Amino acid sequence: MGAKVSKEQGKEKPESRIIDYFCPFAMNDIDGLRSLLTSPKKVVIVTHFKPDADALGSSLGLAGFLIKKGHSVDVISPSDYPDFLAWMPRKEIVTALSKTSKEPELKTAQLVAHADIIFCLDFSSLKRINEVGDMVKQSSAIKILVDHHLEPEKFAQFEKWDVSSASTAGLIFELIKDIDSAESIDSDMASCLYAGLMTDTGGFRHNNTTQREFLIASELVRLGANPSEIAKKIYDMNSLERLRLTGYVLSEKLTVLPEYNTAYITLTGDELNKFGAQTGDTEGLVNYGLSIKGVKMAVLMYDRKEEIKLSFRSLADFDVNALARKHFEGGGHKNASGGQSRLTLEETLQKFLSILPEYKSLLNQ
Ligand code: 5GP
Ligand code: MN
Repeated sequence: MGAKVSKEQGKEKPESRIIDYFCPFAMNDIDGLRSLLTSPKKVVIVTHFKPDADALGSSLGLAGFLIKKGHSVDVISPSDYPDFLAWMPRKEIVTALSKTSKEPELKTAQLVAHADIIFCLDFSSLKRINEVGDMVKQSSAIKILVDHHLEPEKFAQFEKWDVSSASTAGLIFELIKDIDSAESIDSDMASCLYAGLMTDTGGFRHNNTTQREFLIASELVRLGANPSEIAKKIYDMNSLERLRLTGYVLSEKLTVLPEYNTAYITLTGDELNKFGAQTGDTEGLVNYGLSIKGVKMAVLMYDRKEEIKLSFRSLADFDVNALARKHFEGGGHKNASGGQSRLTLEETLQKFLSILPEYKSLLNQ
């Protein structure tokens, strides 16, 4: 199936192939997807930039299932991932794009271009996979989105999209059950999926934790996931530097604005370097802000070199997805979202402070 070419002002211009695909089944036809997977396929699983446990865990859980079914499977991470995920079984099939080498990007381009099926897990917008987004758009593979973020972009021919699910890992569990059977989940796959479910519910504490999450968790434990071991591997693998960074943030950098029931933390590149911060070391810091009595919104902003990264958390009806979308090119969930800014850290903070009056009444409800 070749790319369509249109003539524009005498020049040949490749058209986006987003609608130029051959898909043997109708949108969201699970029987069609099941029969597609009855013969060996080249499958690529892509997850989002700076993957968390849900992103990587759902990808490796699904990969395990597809490998067992005889498919050839590669997982693409658009960036490196935190050390506390390095225990995940089958991580050797992950190609992680890197700032220091072009090789993974070239390999990714090849894999995506030759894939029969591309699964997109735990992100709803192709912007979240950076340069891999264009490769996916151009590819004539069948695209399958499995995600739980708000307002997904339309680019897939099969969507298992459910914002009421706390995790993508839970959706993968359900998809495997729908296609085949929970019994095809081995203990390695169960561990990866459990890790995603545990972290996206904040250890079964956030308001996205429902009976459905406990039922899936229970099944995953039955299938071999060990809750205390996985919790230890994810939450108790701090480096001393990371704990010192946390201490510094709590004593020096956490600021509360009582008139807006808001807490914020900023971290410069120098501060992160001083504590030898690695990918993943800032994860969870924003939650300290939200743990303060009366605080309804917490924000972490830090210098990620390419841009300023923002993490938003909120309580109850205060919608940080809307705020991140409107002001910081981001999104996510109502109570947990992210975004970015191309301004300096100080300018980003000033921008954030300047928009607070717009939200004052909502933050004081
Ligand atoms: P975190 O603050 O932990 O990076 O992300 C919180 C939630 O928002 C996660 O579900 C994450 O996938 C999503 N998220 C983080 N950054 C972005 C972003 O830049 N754009 C969008 N659309 N979602 C984001
Ligand atoms: Mn997730």
